[in-house]
Amino acid sequence: MPVSLHLRSRFGRRLFSRFLIAALLPMAVLATFSYSEMREQLMDQLQHGLRDDSKSLGMELINELSLRVDLLKESGAREIAGGASGFVWVRDERDPQVPALDADEARGLAAHGATVRLYGAHAPLFVVRRSTDNRILYGRLDPAALWQRHSVDTPYCILDKQQRPILCTQGLQLPVLDLSSRDRSLITASSNGVPHLAGHWSAHLDGLYGAGVFHVVTTVPAQSLTLPLAHLRYGFIAIFALALGLIVAMAASQIGRQTEPLDALTRGVRRLARGEMDTRVDVPGDDEFALLGATFNTMSDRLKRKFNMLRLLAELDRAVLGSGEPARVNEAILSGVLDAIPCDAAGIALIDANGSATYARARSVDGHLSPRLGVSADALTQICSLGVDEWNDVQIDVESLLSGQPQQPGRGALVFSVRSHGRLDGLLVLALAIDGRQDKEEIITAGRNLADRMSVAGSSFAWEEKLYRQSHYDALTSLPNRTLLRDRVTHALTRASREKTSVAALRIDFDDFNSINEALGQTAGDLFLIEASRRLESLMRPEDTVARLAGDEFVMLVTAMDDAERILVLHDIAERIHQLLASPVRLADRYVISQASIGISLYPDNSNDFESLMSTAEVALHEAKKSSRGGFNFYSQSMNAAVSERFELAQELRRAVHNDELLLHFQPKVSAHDGAIMGAEALIRWQSPSRGLVSPGAFLPLIEDIGLNSWLTDFVLDKACAQMAAWDKAGLQPIPVSINVSPADLGTADFFDKITAALQRHDLSSSRLELEILETSEVGAGGTVRTTLQRLRDVGVKIALDDFGTGYSSLVYLTEMPADTLKLDRAFIRNLAGDMRQQAIVRQVISLARSLGFIIVAEGVEQVAQRDLLVDMECDLIQGFLYSRPLPPDELAAKLLAKLPFAA
Ligand code: C2E
Ligand code: CA
Ligand code: CA
Repeated sequence: MPVSLHLRSRFGRRLFSRFLIAALLPMAVLATFSYSEMREQLMDQLQHGLRDDSKSLGMELINELSLRVDLLKESGAREIAGGASGFVWVRDERDPQVPALDADEARGLAAHGATVRLYGAHAPLFVVRRSTDNRILYGRLDPAALWQRHSVDTPYCILDKQQRPILCTQGLQLPVLDLSSRDRSLITASSNGVPHLAGHWSAHLDGLYGAGVFHVVTTVPAQSLTLPLAHLRYGFIAIFALALGLIVAMAASQIGRQTEPLDALTRGVRRLARGEMDTRVDVPGDDEFALLGATFNTMSDRLKRKFNMLRLLAELDRAVLGSGEPARVNEAILSGVLDAIPCDAAGIALIDANGSATYARARSVDGHLSPRLGVSADALTQICSLGVDEWNDVQIDVESLLSGQPQQPGRGALVFSVRSHGRLDGLLVLALAIDGRQDKEEIITAGRNLADRMSVAGSSFAWEEKLYRQSHYDALTSLPNRTLLRDRVTHALTRASREKTSVAALRIDFDDFNSINEALGQTAGDLFLIEASRRLESLMRPEDTVARLAGDEFVMLVTAMDDAERILVLHDIAERIHQLLASPVRLADRYVISQASIGISLYPDNSNDFESLMSTAEVALHEAKKSSRGGFNFYSQSMNAAVSERFELAQELRRAVHNDELLLHFQPKVSAHDGAIMGAEALIRWQSPSRGLVSPGAFLPLIEDIGLNSWLTDFVLDKACAQMAAWDKAGLQPIPVSINVSPADLGTADFFDKITAALQRHDLSSSRLELEILETSEVGAGGTVRTTLQRLRDVGVKIALDDFGTGYSSLVYLTEMPADTLKLDRAFIRNLAGDMRQQAIVRQVISLARSLGFIIVAEGVEQVAQRDLLVDMECDLIQGFLYSRPLPPDELAAKLLAKLPFAA
């Protein structure tokens, strides 16, 4: 992270400023101190230098003085004056022009033999006693010869006793000085406007010549001090700047290193405060920050779990208050438990009143939710043996634990009991890898909390269930009561109106139930009703309802009936109820028989709500009690009429069988290419004296109903074979004939024998007979039907798949069917000419069937266009009104005799 970002944090800024102050303050003090120290030193040095310069100049001057004194002492006046010695004149004491001496000079002359006057008139003036003749000589020197020193290259000044300049370098300006003071500090001067620094030395001549003092002031340009000082300053500034830069950089990087984890922690805390429970911070290293980061993560995990736990508990409360169904509560627990408790896996088993598990599921580490598990009694015992509500050092896999597999030691298991009203209702199992990091108390408390919620859910559900049962079920028979029936009826009516189906209410009432009560007592009556309700339930379809309204009044609700089938269904159910209830009931040591009457009302025909359905059914019930029509009665007269009609028809049909009114017609199957007859299908007809020729559609269902199915198959088989034999005998072309066989026939054990017997009886080869079976027939691999078909084919009987395409027309089915012929249903043919899609399908089906070796027959061909298309699709045989309707045997015989192809 860039430095600027760290410094945005208040802590970072504070740390940075402290850092800076801590580093800069001593540095500044040190710098100032050493600067002034060095400046002092420099000035001191300069001062000493200047003093030394002044002193050596002074000494040089004294030396010069002494030289002149000695020269004057040794030599004659004429020799010196005007020479290189610099004397302007030399006179002896006798010369009247010699100046008078003062007292000091005179004393000096007397004591030292020489004295000098350095200021005033005639200065410098030398007075000596000549050594050769003891005469006093006076000599005046040219001041420049004495004071002008060429060896000195900086400006200087010689001052007299009164500090008046004797000689000063041109342009040198000195301030007013007090040279007698001991102050040695530097004197500021200027020479030709250039600042200079000056030092001085005072030369005292008293000891030499008894008189005279002069002061020497030498200078150096001020630069010689300011320049090194400036260098020093610049040096300091550079070092300071460098140090500052280093400090800033190091401080920033250090602060960065320190504040980065702090920033991460701050951000983490903020996110956590916003409710982002997944927040984790990543602080690497092993310092306190890393420790803080780890602690933060642990805290965040715990908070998250606490939060999830609260959410889960709230969800459970909602589930309990909502449906309260324990399974829903348990599913909610299983879906949330791993996020709320630090455990690896969890499982729940519910236990019913008998102590066996009714529900068990587990959630594994990877979040996988098991399907419902079957928990054996042994597994339950094993789980309970683990010790409830305490830690178990058993390695468990919850799913396999619930499934009863043994567990290994080494891991943690917690089993919590779920109890309601003191009974063990269920178990909550948690599995954990014990690594010592979990807070066991926390887990136990959380698990206990969940188990308690389960208990509450369980008992409140049981309570609600009880209330629900009390208000919706009959206490005696456990059948739904009027309230629940009303619900179910309302439901059924809504559904029926949507699906355009019918609903019926059958009101059932015993004709002399009161006499049972009176004769055998209330208890026997109750037992009778319980038995009656059990019988009614046994007749009920799963989607229907049997309810007890009161006393001996029952209602059966029959739902979702097609218009076409409802008469049959209801007739059938009513008859069966009537029969079953009419069979004797054993009460204590005797048998009781009580007839029941049934009144039937229909939605939408007779009523459109619960109340009207019940009342119309009751009206029908009263009628049923009066009439004698098999104990049941419809509310609508038309229904009753239809039932009567059916009843009549059944009677007539029985008579027809007896009177031999059933016969066969034969519909030819012709070659698609040339119209030649290649076979015929036998179709049943009823020649009724009162109704005329009746088609099978009108009476076949009834045949089945009145149990003549098997008889019909035998009849058709025999009739068809007999007809073939007769045609053979008449010398007609021996065509194969197919008969229709119902699925029920195929399952019968003696079916194969019946077929072969018939063929033998009429002396026909097996290949003359073809059996048309419905595509929907259950021809499962290995079943009896399949075996029978296989055996028939083995002896040469042909098998045709009838109405192909109307059932579950999987083309795969074709590959598995032991059959020779495929009869394309009329539904395929009807719209063939105008429907390109249909053509494509039929073409595919034919080509597939051909490739599987089937002979293809197209049924219901009525148009030339259909025939032409089928010819183009390589269909083998055509059956349909286009060539011929089903014909009486002699008419077909005439066609065969003529040997003429059919004309389309
Ligand atoms: P199915 O086996 O599909 O018989 C063909 C039906 O289609 C026959 O009706 C026939 O008359 C009719 N049909 C033939 N060509 C045409 C056509 O071009 N246009 C139209 N619209 N119809 C055509 P049918 O004789 O009324 O038989 C109806 C059904 O009754 C048969 O359907 C068959 O499932 C069943 N059936 C007939 N006779 C017997 C029998 O002896 N035993 C059994 N178990 N069922 C039979
Ligand atoms: Ca058929
Ligand atoms: Ca058919």
